[in-house]
Amino acid sequence: MTKSPTGLLDGLDPEQRAAAAAPRGPVCVLAGAGTGKTRTITHRIAHLIASGHVSAGQVLAVTFTARAAGEMRTRLRALGVDGAQALTFHAAARRQLRYFWPRVVGDRMWDLLDGKLRLVAQAAQRTRVSTDTEILRDIASEIEWAKASLISPEDYPAQAARLQRDTPMQAAQVAEVYRKYEEVKNAARMLDFDDLLLHTTAALEDNADVAREFRDRYRCFVVDEYQDVTPLQQRLLDAWLGGRDDITVVGDANQTIYSFGGASPRPLLDFTRRFPEATVVRLERDYRSTPQVVELANKVIGAARGRPAGSRLKLIGQRPDGPEPRFAEFDDEPTEAGAVAGRVRQLLDAGVPASEIAILYRVNAQSEVYEQALTDLEIPYLVRGGERFFERREIRQAMVSLRTAAADPPAGDLVTAVRAVLARVGLTEQPPSGGAAKERWDALLALVELAEELAASVEGASMGRYVAELEQRAAAQHPPTVEGVTLASLHAAKGLEWDAVFLVGLAEGTMPIQRADGDEAAIEEERRLFYVGVTRAREQLWLSWSLSRHPGGRRHRRRSRFLYGLIPEEHPTARVPRRAATTRTKPSCRMCGEQLANTLEVKLGRCARCPSDLDEALLTRLKEWRAERARELKVPPFVVFTDATLVAIAEQRPDDQRGLVAISGIGPTKVQRFGDEVLSLLRDHA
Ligand code: ATP
Ligand code: MG
Repeated sequence: MTKSPTGLLDGLDPEQRAAAAAPRGPVCVLAGAGTGKTRTITHRIAHLIASGHVSAGQVLAVTFTARAAGEMRTRLRALGVDGAQALTFHAAARRQLRYFWPRVVGDRMWDLLDGKLRLVAQAAQRTRVSTDTEILRDIASEIEWAKASLISPEDYPAQAARLQRDTPMQAAQVAEVYRKYEEVKNAARMLDFDDLLLHTTAALEDNADVAREFRDRYRCFVVDEYQDVTPLQQRLLDAWLGGRDDITVVGDANQTIYSFGGASPRPLLDFTRRFPEATVVRLERDYRSTPQVVELANKVIGAARGRPAGSRLKLIGQRPDGPEPRFAEFDDEPTEAGAVAGRVRQLLDAGVPASEIAILYRVNAQSEVYEQALTDLEIPYLVRGGERFFERREIRQAMVSLRTAAADPPAGDLVTAVRAVLARVGLTEQPPSGGAAKERWDALLALVELAEELAASVEGASMGRYVAELEQRAAAQHPPTVEGVTLASLHAAKGLEWDAVFLVGLAEGTMPIQRADGDEAAIEEERRLFYVGVTRAREQLWLSWSLSRHPGGRRHRRRSRFLYGLIPEEHPTARVPRRAATTRTKPSCRMCGEQLANTLEVKLGRCARCPSDLDEALLTRLKEWRAERARELKVPPFVVFTDATLVAIAEQRPDDQRGLVAISGIGPTKVQRFGDEVLSLLRDHA
C-alpha cells in the first residue's frame, strides 16, 4: 500500500509540509500540543522512504514512552511504511546492546534489573547508612538522576552542590551508596535501565568496528518529544549520529515534564545553534482540540515562567466549537469518582466509544477509587493504557497457541485463522454477560482486532507476520486497543489524545504535588504537566477536585492553584477560594501559586511579577466611594480601606462576605461596616 511521495504530503498544512518534505539533513519542529508534530514526522519518514532517500530499515525513530512509540508504529503502518523502527530510547538501546554484546563484552548479555531498590538497599547496608524505605527510594531516584545526567559517583557531591540538589542525605553519603550500588550490580552481572544506554553509547564510542556497522545500518534518525531528552540520551543520540546530521527532532518545551529525572529542553531550544543550516518549522494551528479546550490550554500555559515559557506560541484552534470545559468540586474522593463514572456512563450512552475516554491523574495511587467507581457501573477500563495486557493469563496462553499455529496455520485468511486459534483458548462467538469472563473475552477480541488491522494495512499478511507483530508489541509493552476507558497518569498520557478527558484530583498537594511546594522550578513543571493533561482532550474536558479524601473527613483541601483564572465567573466555586480549615498554609499568589514575599503582595493576593487583572474603572469607582465615606466619617481615606486593599477588591471582585474576608486586611469589623456597600457597588459595576 505504498503511497506516492506527493500524496503523502496531502494531509498536511504548508508548514507541516515544509518539515515533512525537507531534504535529508537536520530538521526541527518547535510547536505546541496538538499542532501535528507527531503527524509531521511520521509523514516525513514515509516521504523520505517513498522518494527513495532512505530505505525503511535505515530509519530509527525514538520517543519516550512505550505507548507513544506504539502509536508512532501504528501511524507509520497506516502510511504504508513497513520495517522502520519506532522505539523508546531504552528499547532501541536494549536491542542494539544485545546484538553487539558478544563482540564488545564476550559472553551472554547480563540480565536486566527489574528495579533498583533491592540493590540500593544492599549498597546502603554496606555503607552503613539508614535503610528506611522512603530514603532508599529517594536515593534510587537520585542515582537515576545522576546516571541520566552523566554524573559519576566521584562527581556527584560537587554537582549536587552546584545544582543545589535537595539530597536525601549528605551528598557524600549518597555518592558512597551510588558507588557501592554500581559495585554490587556489576558483581551480580546485572544491568539497570540506565546501563542499557550507557553501555550502548560506550560500545559505539569505543569500538570503531561496532560504530561502522551501526552507522552503515542506520542512516536517518527521528526524535519525538525531544524536549524531554536527558544528557545520557543525547549522548547516545550523538553516538548514533557519529557526526552525521540526518536528524529530525520535534518537541514542545512547554511540555517538559521529566526535568526531575534530568531531562532538559535545552537541546531542543539550542538545536539551530548546533545545526545552523537546519530547516526550522513552527506550528501554531491546533488540530486536536476544540477552540474551547485550546483557550483553556492557552490560559494555563500563559501563566508559565522560565526558559521553556519563552518559546511558547499561542495555539489557534482549528476545530469546530465544542462544549465549554466543565469544573466540579466534591466533598470527597469517592463522590468525585462516582460522579466521573456517572458522566462516563452518559458519554458511553451517547455513543462515545470507551477507548475515546480517559481519566487522568497525577499519581498512580489515585487510580484505585476510579477502578472501583467504574466497576460499580460495569464500565470496562484499562489501567495506564493496559500495559499489563501481555501479562494476562489468557493472553499468554493465546500467544503460545498462536506461535505454534504460525508454523502450520489453519486455513483461511489471517483474521479467520486467528479467530480459529483463539477459539481454542476461550474466544466464543458471543460475549459472556460480564465480569472477569467478559474482560478475558475483550482481551482476546483485541487480538482479533489487531489481526484485522494488520490485514487491512499489510496485503496478504501471514500468521508469522502477525505473531512477529505481537512479539514486538509485547517487547515494547504496546498493547492493542481494548475497548475500555483509559485510566492513566498524566506522565503516561503525553503525546496521546482522547475525545473526552477527565482531569481528576485537582487539589493542592496532589496537583501540584506536595513536594513541589515552595520550589519554583518544580511548580512550573507541575504546571506543564497540567498543560499536558488539558491538551489531551479533543472535545470534552472535565476538571474536578474534592475537599477531603474520605467521606466524612475534614474538608480541608483547596482546589489546585492552577485553576485560578480558569473557572468562569458564574461558577459556584469560581471566586472564593476555600480556606484551609485546619492547616494554615503560607499565603501564595492566586495566579502562579508562588509564596508571597511581602505584605503588599499578600494584600493583592498575587506576586508582583504576575500580571494584574485589574478593572481600572472599578478601582476608580471604589476610590470615589471611599473618598465619600472618608468625608462623612471625617477620617483619612486609608482608614476606610488602603489603596492596596481597594486594588485587591477590584482585582478579585468577591461576590459575598466570605470572599471579602478572604482578602487580607479586611476583617469582620470592616465587613460589618462597609461590606454590604462594597458588595452592592461590585454588583452594580458587574
Ligand atoms: P503533542 O504535542 O500532544 O504530542 P502533536 O503536535 O504531536 O501533539 P499530533 O498528535 O501529531 O500533534 O496531532 C494532533 C491531532 O491533530 C492528531 O489527531 C492529528 O491527526 C491531527 N492533525 C494534525 N495535523 C493535521 C492536519 N494538517 N490536518 C488534519 N488533522 C491534523
Ligand atoms: Mg506528539
